[in-house]
Amino acid sequence: ETVLITGGTGFIGRRLTRLLQQAGYQVALLSRSPKSIPDVRVYQWDIRKGHIDPQAIATADHIIHLAGEGIADERWTDQRKEAILSSRTQSTDLLVQALKANPHHVKSFMGASAIGYYGGNTDDRPLTETSEGGSDFLAQVVRAWERSEEQVATLGIRTVKFRIGVVLMAGGGALPKLVQPIRLGAGAPIGSGQQYISWIHLDDMCRLFIEGLSNTKWQGVYNAVAPMPVTNEALTRAIAQVLHRPILLPNIPAFAIKLMYGEMAIVVTGGNYVLNKRITDETDFQYQYSDLTRALENLLE
Ligand code: NDP
Repeated sequence: ETVLITGGTGFIGRRLTRLLQQAGYQVALLSRSPKSIPDVRVYQWDIRKGHIDPQAIATADHIIHLAGEGIADERWTDQRKEAILSSRTQSTDLLVQALKANPHHVKSFMGASAIGYYGGNTDDRPLTETSEGGSDFLAQVVRAWERSEEQVATLGIRTVKFRIGVVLMAGGGALPKLVQPIRLGAGAPIGSGQQYISWIHLDDMCRLFIEGLSNTKWQGVYNAVAPMPVTNEALTRAIAQVLHRPILLPNIPAFAIKLMYGEMAIVVTGGNYVLNKRITDETDFQYQYSDLTRALENLLE
């Protein structure tokens, strides 16, 4: 079977490609630019122009939709916000149009979503898949993104949406930004340090996508997080311990982060206590990394 991954050249997509191949799947990518990747077919699309290579859809048994402008790559100007939103919703719309217009045999659609759905700072209120959505910028983006993905379900294709937590991975995302100052002996918790980080190891995230597409019981929204969220302070200290570095400095005040990053500061100063309720209650998915220290040892050593 062939799995078509949009945005598959990114951090999650690259690891997912490898793990899918190991599990015996063929992988094809939809990308904005041509690339040569061993054992992978790369098709092109241009979201603004509404162009998509119809062969990409014709070849797919499953679609995993990861494409989207990086959330925390640049300050959130109005233009940047528009790009963050439209790269997700318009790309989904384009996939839906292509699915409607071409004969295909797509059996399942796995959509990336994010725990940003619940809002940037929900303190220590436990959040499950049925909790109410937030109202800040990212919550609005995620809601619009999920709504666009619901169109796929109306085509009769089994649709799974993963509200992805903070993905811990070696080369990108939040972890290297936390690790770097700690390595230099300048690490410190952020704000009160008590905000919760609902994290997941990259490999478990990829394994969830694979489980979701291969097991037809999976349907609808799942919080894709490890079983136990940790506070920012506990995460900072756990990284320091794995790296054998001390934490000497006092907490970095939230206002300093706000000065540096503007509205985007919520990504680091905010927090959510997200529970993987549906995964625990309804599936027999086994995490490889439910323990934070083991996850960090795997990624940092
Ligand atoms: P990356 O930023 O590493 O990769 C995303 C990919 O999307 C890029 O490689 C690129 O592929 C494509 N892309 C970027 N901008 C655009 C655009 N304007 N139009 C179309 N495609 C675009 O993301 P991750 O792998 O980290 O994450 C994948 C998805 O999961 C993202 O949507 C992200 O928001 C979501 N997610 C990730 C979390 C994390 O902690 N990493 C947490 C929660 C959600 P190409 O250049 O080949 O077109």
